Amino acid sequence: MQKGDLLYAGKAKSVFLTDREGILLVEFRDDITAFDGGKKDILDKKGCFNAKVSAYIFRLLTENGIPTHFIDMVDDRRMLVRSLSMIPLEVIVRNVAAGSMSRTYPIAEGTPLSPPVIVIDYKDDSRHDPMLNDDLILALKLLSAQELARVKDLALAVNSVLVRFFESLGITLVDFKIEFGKAGEDIMLGDEISMDSMRLWDMHTGESLDKDVYRFSKGDVMEVYRRVAEKICAGGK
Ligand code: 5GP
Repeated sequence: MQKGDLLYAGKAKSVFLTDREGILLVEFRDDITAFDGGKKDILDKKGCFNAKVSAYIFRLLTENGIPTHFIDMVDDRRMLVRSLSMIPLEVIVRNVAAGSMSRTYPIAEGTPLSPPVIVIDYKDDSRHDPMLNDDLILALKLLSAQELARVKDLALAVNSVLVRFFESLGITLVDFKIEFGKAGEDIMLGDEISMDSMRLWDMHTGESLDKDVYRFSKGDVMEVYRRVAEKICAGGK
């Protein structure tokens, strides 16, 4: 497999074409950013931890019947994925009120949410990812009603698998953000699922085990990422 031209460089990942039709190479860089890029740093090996965790979670989801773009790891920070036509939505699933939910609405951080709450934002940094509702998603022709129902079903299916998995590790999956793309008519999970895109709390101590450590300068973010990646990739053993 030959690495081709750079297709897209995001805040923490770069995506390259390959010599294989329909297959892309995703490189997880060591950049870390928060607050719409207002805070940024480069942290040695951060990309490796996120790549490893994403690969583990994509495999876990595949085993549970959830379609993802993941094909295989190439090395410790690069993975091969199926090329998707990405849908510009950030699908957030919340099991516990935290972050922007508790800042925006009168609900205390730590309040359990049952059933889980799905929030869908329009992915556009220049507009600060505004929140959508079903009618707006249809009006903006981002998805058909049937596709929207499928996206929500998949998001809840991902949540069920991950809540159970993290529970077995003594970790509460507070919330997470995922992105979907289309391969023909099929909707699949794309992008990544890592400590950058999930909010994880130690079930016993409440310690943050995710990017909030970086966002709010709560401690040594790389020590936390290393510890969590090891725990996740040991698979609950
Ligand atoms: P909040 O809306 O509370 O800031 O975020 C909810 C969840 O979605 C958190 O787990 C957060 O990490 C994730 N999330 C929200 N927006 C983004 C984003 O633009 N990029 C990434 N990687 N994760 C996000």
